[in-house]
Amino acid sequence: MSAVTVENLVKTYAAGGRRATDDVSLEVADGEFLVLVGPSGCGKTTLLRMVAGLETPDSGTVRIGGRDVTDLPARQRGLSMVFQSYAIFPHMRVRQNIGFGLTMRKVPKDEFDRRVRRAAELLQLSDYLDRYPAQLSGGQRQRVAVARAIVVDAAVLLMDEPLSNLDALLRLQFRAELKRIVGQLGTTTLYVTHDQAEAMSLGDRVAVMRDGKVAQIGPPLDVYDRPAYRFVGGFLGSPPMNFLTARVRDGALAIGDTALPAPAHLSTWDGREVVVGVRAENVQVAKDAVAGWVPARVEVVEPTGAALLLTVCLAGHQLKVQAPATFPAAADDEVHLRAEVEALRFYDPESGLALM
Ligand code: ATP
Repeated sequence: MSAVTVENLVKTYAAGGRRATDDVSLEVADGEFLVLVGPSGCGKTTLLRMVAGLETPDSGTVRIGGRDVTDLPARQRGLSMVFQSYAIFPHMRVRQNIGFGLTMRKVPKDEFDRRVRRAAELLQLSDYLDRYPAQLSGGQRQRVAVARAIVVDAAVLLMDEPLSNLDALLRLQFRAELKRIVGQLGTTTLYVTHDQAEAMSLGDRVAVMRDGKVAQIGPPLDVYDRPAYRFVGGFLGSPPMNFLTARVRDGALAIGDTALPAPAHLSTWDGREVVVGVRAENVQVAKDAVAGWVPARVEVVEPTGAALLLTVCLAGHQLKVQAPATFPAAADDEVHLRAEVEALRFYDPESGLALM
Protein backbone atom coordinates (compact mmCIF):
# COMPACT_ATOMS: atom_id res chain seq x y z
CA MET A 1 0.00 0.00 0.00
CA SER A 2 1.46 3.35 -0.98
CA ALA A 3 -1.28 5.95 -0.72
CA VAL A 4 0.00 9.49 -0.15
CA THR A 5 -1.98 11.57 2.31
CA VAL A 6 -1.33 15.18 3.14
CA GLU A 7 -3.24 16.84 5.94
CA ASN A 8 -3.52 20.56 6.64
CA LEU A 9 -0.19 21.40 5.04
CA VAL A 10 0.80 25.02 5.59
CA LYS A 11 3.99 26.52 4.19
CA THR A 12 5.12 30.14 4.33
CA TYR A 13 8.55 31.04 2.95
CA ALA A 14 8.96 34.42 4.64
CA ALA A 15 7.85 35.08 8.22
CA GLY A 16 4.44 36.77 8.09
CA GLY A 17 4.36 36.34 4.28
CA ARG A 18 1.74 34.81 2.05
CA ARG A 19 1.09 31.13 2.45
CA ALA A 20 2.55 29.16 -0.47
CA THR A 21 0.25 26.31 0.57
CA ASP A 22 -2.67 27.20 2.75
CA ASP A 23 -4.01 24.29 4.77
CA VAL A 24 -3.99 21.74 1.94
CA SER A 25 -5.38 18.26 2.52
CA LEU A 26 -5.67 15.58 -0.13
CA GLU A 27 -5.04 11.91 -0.79
CA VAL A 28 -3.44 10.12 -3.71
CA ALA A 29 -4.90 6.62 -3.55
CA ASP A 30 -2.67 3.57 -3.92
CA GLY A 31 -1.83 3.23 -7.62
CA GLU A 32 -3.56 6.48 -8.53
CA PHE A 33 -2.20 9.17 -10.89
CA LEU A 34 -3.08 12.55 -9.38
CA VAL A 35 -2.20 15.76 -11.19
CA LEU A 36 -1.73 19.07 -9.37
CA VAL A 37 -2.52 21.83 -11.83
CA GLY A 38 -2.94 25.57 -11.56
CA PRO A 39 -1.50 28.91 -12.60
CA SER A 40 2.06 29.92 -11.83
CA GLY A 41 2.69 30.52 -8.13
CA CYS A 42 -0.38 28.65 -6.87
CA GLY A 43 1.73 26.34 -4.70
CA LYS A 44 1.94 23.12 -6.73
CA THR A 45 5.69 22.71 -6.54
CA THR A 46 5.76 23.63 -2.87
CA LEU A 47 3.20 20.92 -2.13
CA LEU A 48 5.12 18.34 -4.16
CA ARG A 49 8.40 19.27 -2.46
CA MET A 50 6.84 18.81 0.97
CA VAL A 51 5.69 15.33 -0.04
CA ALA A 52 9.22 14.68 -1.33
CA GLY A 53 10.81 15.85 1.90
CA LEU A 54 12.70 18.67 0.16
CA GLU A 55 10.72 21.36 1.95
CA THR A 56 9.60 21.39 5.59
CA PRO A 57 5.99 22.35 6.26
CA ASP A 58 5.22 24.94 8.96
CA SER A 59 2.44 22.60 10.07
CA GLY A 60 0.53 19.59 8.81
CA THR A 61 1.32 15.97 8.10
CA VAL A 62 2.54 13.87 5.17
CA ARG A 63 1.79 10.14 5.24
CA ILE A 64 2.98 7.53 2.78
CA GLY A 65 1.40 4.10 3.00
CA GLY A 66 -0.16 5.16 6.30
CA ARG A 67 3.22 6.00 7.86
CA ASP A 68 3.83 9.54 9.10
CA VAL A 69 6.92 10.68 7.14
CA THR A 70 6.65 14.40 7.92
CA ASP A 71 9.97 14.40 9.78
CA LEU A 72 11.78 11.84 7.63
CA PRO A 73 14.49 12.94 5.17
CA ALA A 74 13.72 12.57 1.47
CA ARG A 75 15.84 9.44 0.95
CA GLN A 76 13.92 7.51 3.62
CA ARG A 77 10.50 8.15 2.11
CA GLY A 78 10.58 5.49 -0.61
CA LEU A 79 10.02 7.97 -3.43
CA SER A 80 11.34 8.54 -6.91
CA MET A 81 11.37 11.96 -8.54
CA VAL A 82 11.55 13.47 -12.00
CA PHE A 83 12.01 17.20 -12.34
CA GLN A 84 11.77 19.72 -15.13
CA SER A 85 15.56 20.14 -15.10
CA TYR A 86 16.14 16.39 -15.51
CA ALA A 87 19.70 16.39 -14.25
CA ILE A 88 21.17 13.35 -15.94
CA PHE A 89 24.92 12.93 -15.67
CA PRO A 90 26.71 14.02 -18.86
CA HIS A 91 29.81 11.89 -18.19
CA MET A 92 27.85 8.64 -17.73
CA ARG A 93 26.43 6.44 -20.44
CA VAL A 94 22.66 5.98 -20.60
CA ARG A 95 23.01 2.55 -18.90
CA GLN A 96 24.78 4.05 -15.87
CA ASN A 97 22.41 7.00 -15.78
CA ILE A 98 19.35 4.78 -15.74
CA GLY A 99 20.90 2.46 -13.19
CA PHE A 100 22.20 5.22 -10.92
CA GLY A 101 19.74 4.48 -8.11
CA LEU A 102 20.60 0.78 -8.31
CA THR A 103 24.33 1.50 -8.05
CA MET A 104 23.66 3.59 -4.96
CA ARG A 105 21.74 0.66 -3.50
CA LYS A 106 24.61 -1.71 -4.37
CA VAL A 107 22.35 -3.96 -6.43
CA PRO A 108 24.28 -7.01 -7.84
CA LYS A 109 25.42 -6.83 -11.47
CA ASP A 110 22.96 -9.32 -13.02
CA GLU A 111 20.00 -7.73 -11.26
CA PHE A 112 21.30 -4.28 -12.31
CA ASP A 113 21.40 -5.41 -15.95
CA ARG A 114 17.97 -6.99 -15.81
CA ARG A 115 16.28 -3.97 -14.25
CA VAL A 116 18.03 -1.42 -16.48
CA ARG A 117 17.08 -3.48 -19.53
CA ARG A 118 13.45 -3.57 -18.48
CA ALA A 119 13.29 0.18 -17.78
CA ALA A 120 15.03 0.89 -21.10
CA GLU A 121 12.49 -1.30 -22.92
CA LEU A 122 9.59 0.52 -21.32
CA LEU A 123 11.04 3.87 -22.37
CA GLN A 124 12.19 2.65 -25.79
CA LEU A 125 15.82 3.32 -25.00
CA SER A 126 17.20 -0.17 -25.58
CA ASP A 127 19.24 0.96 -28.59
CA TYR A 128 20.82 3.86 -26.74
CA LEU A 129 22.21 2.26 -23.59
CA ASP A 130 25.85 2.82 -24.61
CA ARG A 131 25.44 6.42 -25.65
CA TYR A 132 26.28 9.53 -23.65
CA PRO A 133 23.55 12.13 -22.99
CA ALA A 134 25.14 14.57 -25.46
CA GLN A 135 24.42 11.99 -28.20
CA LEU A 136 20.69 11.97 -27.45
CA SER A 137 17.79 14.19 -28.44
CA GLY A 138 15.98 16.24 -25.81
CA GLY A 139 13.11 13.77 -25.80
CA GLN A 140 15.47 10.82 -25.33
CA ARG A 141 17.21 12.56 -22.43
CA GLN A 142 13.84 13.10 -20.85
CA ARG A 143 13.13 9.40 -21.21
CA VAL A 144 16.42 8.60 -19.49
CA ALA A 145 15.30 10.74 -16.54
CA VAL A 146 12.00 8.86 -16.35
CA ALA A 147 13.72 5.47 -16.74
CA ARG A 148 16.08 6.38 -13.91
CA ALA A 149 13.11 7.24 -11.70
CA ILE A 150 11.16 4.05 -12.38
CA VAL A 151 14.08 1.58 -12.30
CA VAL A 152 14.24 1.65 -8.50
CA ASP A 153 10.61 0.46 -8.22
CA ALA A 154 9.75 3.15 -5.70
CA ALA A 155 6.27 2.97 -4.21
CA VAL A 156 5.58 6.59 -5.14
CA LEU A 157 6.59 8.61 -8.16
CA LEU A 158 6.74 12.43 -7.98
CA MET A 159 7.03 14.46 -11.16
CA ASP A 160 7.34 18.22 -11.53
CA GLU A 161 6.74 19.50 -15.06
CA PRO A 162 8.76 16.62 -16.57
CA LEU A 163 7.69 17.45 -20.13
CA SER A 164 8.21 21.18 -20.10
CA ASN A 165 11.58 21.09 -21.85
CA LEU A 166 10.16 19.28 -24.87
CA ASP A 167 8.79 20.95 -27.97
CA ALA A 168 5.04 20.80 -28.54
CA LEU A 169 4.99 17.67 -30.72
CA LEU A 170 7.37 15.62 -28.57
CA ARG A 171 5.49 16.72 -25.51
CA LEU A 172 2.28 15.34 -26.94
CA GLN A 173 3.91 12.03 -27.92
CA PHE A 174 5.71 11.58 -24.65
CA ARG A 175 2.59 12.44 -22.67
CA ALA A 176 0.80 9.42 -24.13
CA GLU A 177 3.85 7.23 -23.51
CA LEU A 178 4.09 8.36 -19.93
CA LYS A 179 0.46 7.50 -19.43
CA ARG A 180 1.03 4.03 -20.83
CA ILE A 181 4.17 3.41 -18.76
CA VAL A 182 2.79 4.63 -15.45
CA GLY A 183 -0.43 2.75 -16.17
CA GLN A 184 1.55 -0.47 -16.67
CA LEU A 185 3.58 0.02 -13.51
CA GLY A 186 0.60 1.05 -11.40
CA THR A 187 2.83 3.30 -9.31
CA THR A 188 1.15 5.91 -7.09
CA THR A 189 1.99 9.15 -8.87
CA LEU A 190 1.78 12.83 -7.96
CA TYR A 191 2.42 15.01 -10.99
CA VAL A 192 2.73 18.80 -11.21
CA THR A 193 1.97 20.83 -14.32
CA HIS A 194 0.63 24.25 -15.22
CA ASP A 195 -0.65 22.80 -18.51
CA GLN A 196 -4.34 22.06 -18.21
CA ALA A 197 -4.41 19.81 -21.30
CA GLU A 198 -1.63 17.68 -19.81
CA ALA A 199 -3.52 17.48 -16.53
CA MET A 200 -6.73 16.41 -18.25
CA SER A 201 -4.97 13.79 -20.34
CA LEU A 202 -2.84 12.19 -17.63
CA GLY A 203 -4.71 12.34 -14.37
CA ASP A 204 -7.02 9.71 -12.90
CA ARG A 205 -7.97 12.80 -10.92
CA VAL A 206 -6.86 16.41 -11.10
CA ALA A 207 -6.52 18.85 -8.23
CA VAL A 208 -6.88 22.43 -9.46
CA MET A 209 -4.99 24.81 -7.17
CA ARG A 210 -5.27 28.54 -6.66
CA ASP A 211 -3.56 30.77 -4.09
CA GLY A 212 -2.17 27.89 -2.08
CA LYS A 213 -5.47 26.02 -1.85
CA VAL A 214 -7.10 23.17 -3.76
CA ALA A 215 -10.10 24.75 -5.48
CA GLN A 216 -11.45 21.45 -6.80
CA ILE A 217 -10.38 17.83 -7.03
CA GLY A 218 -11.96 15.06 -9.08
CA PRO A 219 -11.84 13.03 -12.29
CA PRO A 220 -10.81 15.34 -15.17
CA LEU A 221 -14.09 15.16 -17.05
CA ASP A 222 -16.16 15.83 -13.91
CA VAL A 223 -14.08 18.88 -13.07
CA TYR A 224 -14.22 20.03 -16.69
CA ASP A 225 -17.97 19.57 -16.90
CA ARG A 226 -18.90 20.92 -13.48
CA PRO A 227 -16.34 23.46 -12.32
CA ALA A 228 -16.93 24.23 -8.64
CA TYR A 229 -15.62 27.76 -9.19
CA ARG A 230 -15.71 30.14 -12.11
CA PHE A 231 -11.92 30.16 -11.84
CA VAL A 232 -11.75 26.40 -12.52
CA GLY A 233 -13.95 26.68 -15.63
CA GLY A 234 -11.82 29.56 -16.85
CA PHE A 235 -8.63 27.56 -16.30
CA LEU A 236 -9.53 24.11 -17.68
CA GLY A 237 -10.31 23.70 -21.35
CA SER A 238 -9.10 25.12 -24.62
CA PRO A 239 -10.84 27.43 -25.13
CA PRO A 240 -11.75 28.01 -21.50
CA MET A 241 -15.39 28.15 -20.42
CA ASN A 242 -17.31 31.25 -21.59
CA PHE A 243 -18.88 33.49 -18.98
CA LEU A 244 -21.59 36.08 -19.29
CA THR A 245 -23.79 37.97 -16.89
CA ALA A 246 -27.53 37.37 -16.67
CA ARG A 247 -30.29 38.66 -14.44
CA VAL A 248 -32.75 36.20 -12.91
CA ARG A 249 -36.27 37.51 -13.19
CA ASP A 250 -39.61 35.69 -12.77
CA GLY A 251 -38.20 32.28 -13.66
CA ALA A 252 -36.24 33.58 -16.64
CA LEU A 253 -32.62 34.47 -17.29
CA ALA A 254 -32.26 37.80 -19.04
CA ILE A 255 -29.08 38.12 -21.13
CA GLY A 256 -29.29 41.46 -22.93
CA ASP A 257 -32.61 41.39 -24.82
CA THR A 258 -32.83 37.62 -24.68
CA ALA A 259 -34.70 35.60 -22.07
CA LEU A 260 -34.05 31.92 -21.42
CA PRO A 261 -35.90 29.72 -18.94
CA ALA A 262 -34.00 29.72 -15.64
CA PRO A 263 -33.45 26.41 -13.83
CA ALA A 264 -35.53 26.02 -10.66
CA HIS A 265 -32.53 26.16 -8.31
CA LEU A 266 -31.96 29.82 -9.26
CA SER A 267 -35.33 30.89 -7.77
CA THR A 268 -33.56 32.24 -4.68
CA TRP A 269 -31.60 34.57 -6.96
CA ASP A 270 -34.70 36.34 -8.28
CA GLY A 271 -33.94 39.96 -9.12
CA ARG A 272 -30.15 39.43 -8.90
CA GLU A 273 -27.35 38.93 -11.37
CA VAL A 274 -25.59 35.60 -11.82
CA VAL A 275 -22.65 34.57 -13.95
CA VAL A 276 -23.56 32.00 -16.60
CA GLY A 277 -20.84 29.64 -17.81
CA VAL A 278 -21.02 27.61 -21.03
CA ARG A 279 -18.45 25.57 -22.94
CA ALA A 280 -17.78 26.40 -26.62
CA GLU A 281 -18.81 22.90 -27.70
CA ASN A 282 -22.16 23.18 -25.91
CA VAL A 283 -23.35 26.09 -28.01
CA GLN A 284 -25.12 25.25 -31.23
CA VAL A 285 -24.60 27.65 -34.13
CA ALA A 286 -26.91 28.25 -37.10
CA LYS A 287 -26.50 30.57 -40.05
CA ASP A 288 -30.19 31.39 -40.44
CA ALA A 289 -32.54 32.74 -37.81
CA VAL A 290 -34.36 30.03 -35.86
CA ALA A 291 -37.21 30.78 -33.47
CA GLY A 292 -35.91 30.94 -29.91
CA TRP A 293 -32.22 31.14 -30.95
CA VAL A 294 -30.16 34.19 -30.02
CA PRO A 295 -28.52 36.38 -32.68
CA ALA A 296 -24.81 37.14 -32.32
CA ARG A 297 -22.17 38.77 -34.47
CA VAL A 298 -19.07 36.92 -35.65
CA GLU A 299 -15.83 38.71 -34.79
CA VAL A 300 -13.14 36.14 -35.57
CA VAL A 301 -13.14 32.80 -37.42
CA GLU A 302 -10.38 30.34 -36.52
CA PRO A 303 -10.19 26.95 -38.24
CA THR A 304 -8.71 24.28 -35.96
CA GLY A 305 -8.90 21.61 -38.65
CA ALA A 306 -11.44 19.45 -36.86
CA ALA A 307 -13.80 22.36 -36.22
CA LEU A 308 -14.24 26.08 -36.58
CA LEU A 309 -13.75 28.23 -33.53
CA LEU A 310 -15.85 31.36 -33.72
CA THR A 311 -15.43 34.38 -31.48
CA VAL A 312 -18.85 36.01 -31.38
CA CYS A 313 -20.34 39.00 -29.66
CA LEU A 314 -23.59 38.42 -27.80
CA ALA A 315 -25.22 41.24 -25.82
CA GLY A 316 -21.85 42.86 -25.22
CA HIS A 317 -20.17 39.59 -24.17
CA GLN A 318 -17.46 37.91 -26.19
CA LEU A 319 -17.96 34.15 -26.50
CA LYS A 320 -16.04 31.33 -28.15
CA VAL A 321 -18.29 28.83 -29.85
CA GLN A 322 -17.49 25.74 -31.86
CA ALA A 323 -19.02 25.21 -35.30
CA PRO A 324 -18.48 22.34 -37.76
CA ALA A 325 -15.33 22.72 -39.88
CA THR A 326 -17.44 23.40 -42.97
CA PHE A 327 -19.66 26.04 -41.34
CA PRO A 328 -19.93 29.06 -43.66
CA ALA A 329 -18.95 32.00 -41.48
CA ALA A 330 -16.90 35.16 -41.92
CA ALA A 331 -16.18 38.14 -39.73
CA ASP A 332 -19.20 40.46 -39.32
CA ASP A 333 -21.72 37.75 -40.24
CA GLU A 334 -24.76 37.30 -38.09
CA VAL A 335 -25.19 33.81 -36.63
CA HIS A 336 -27.74 32.33 -34.25
CA LEU A 337 -26.93 30.51 -31.05
CA ARG A 338 -28.61 28.09 -28.73
CA ALA A 339 -27.55 26.10 -25.68
CA GLU A 340 -29.39 23.49 -23.63
CA VAL A 341 -30.21 24.83 -20.18
CA GLU A 342 -28.62 21.61 -18.80
CA ALA A 343 -25.28 22.67 -20.30
CA LEU A 344 -25.27 26.02 -18.51
CA ARG A 345 -23.37 26.47 -15.25
CA PHE A 346 -24.08 29.25 -12.78
CA TYR A 347 -21.75 31.15 -10.49
CA ASP A 348 -22.04 33.67 -7.69
CA PRO A 349 -20.65 36.92 -9.19
CA GLU A 350 -18.98 37.81 -5.87
CA SER A 351 -17.40 34.57 -4.67
CA GLY A 352 -17.18 32.77 -8.03
CA LEU A 353 -18.65 29.69 -6.32
CA ALA A 354 -20.92 27.41 -8.37
CA LEU A 355 -24.64 27.78 -7.69
CA MET A 356 -26.05 24.27 -7.48
P1 ATP B 1 5.11 27.48 -11.01
O1 ATP B 1 4.11 26.79 -11.89
O2 ATP B 1 5.42 28.86 -11.48
O3 ATP B 1 6.32 26.66 -10.72
P2 ATP B 1 3.89 26.77 -8.46
O4 ATP B 1 2.42 26.65 -8.51
O5 ATP B 1 4.67 25.52 -8.50
O6 ATP B 1 4.38 27.76 -9.57
P3 ATP B 1 5.35 27.38 -6.08
O7 ATP B 1 6.67 27.28 -6.74
O8 ATP B 1 4.96 26.32 -5.15
O9 ATP B 1 4.20 27.58 -7.14
O10 ATP B 1 5.29 28.78 -5.32
C1 ATP B 1 4.20 29.16 -4.48
C2 ATP B 1 4.49 30.53 -3.88
O11 ATP B 1 5.62 30.43 -3.01
C3 ATP B 1 4.83 31.59 -4.90
O12 ATP B 1 4.27 32.80 -4.48
C4 ATP B 1 6.36 31.63 -4.87
O13 ATP B 1 6.81 32.91 -5.22
C5 ATP B 1 6.68 31.29 -3.43
N1 ATP B 1 7.94 30.57 -3.31
C6 ATP B 1 8.24 29.38 -3.86
N2 ATP B 1 9.49 28.96 -3.51
C7 ATP B 1 10.00 29.95 -2.74
C8 ATP B 1 11.26 30.14 -2.07
N3 ATP B 1 12.21 29.22 -2.13
N4 ATP B 1 11.43 31.29 -1.36
C9 ATP B 1 10.44 32.21 -1.29
N5 ATP B 1 9.24 32.09 -1.89
C10 ATP B 1 9.02 30.99 -2.61
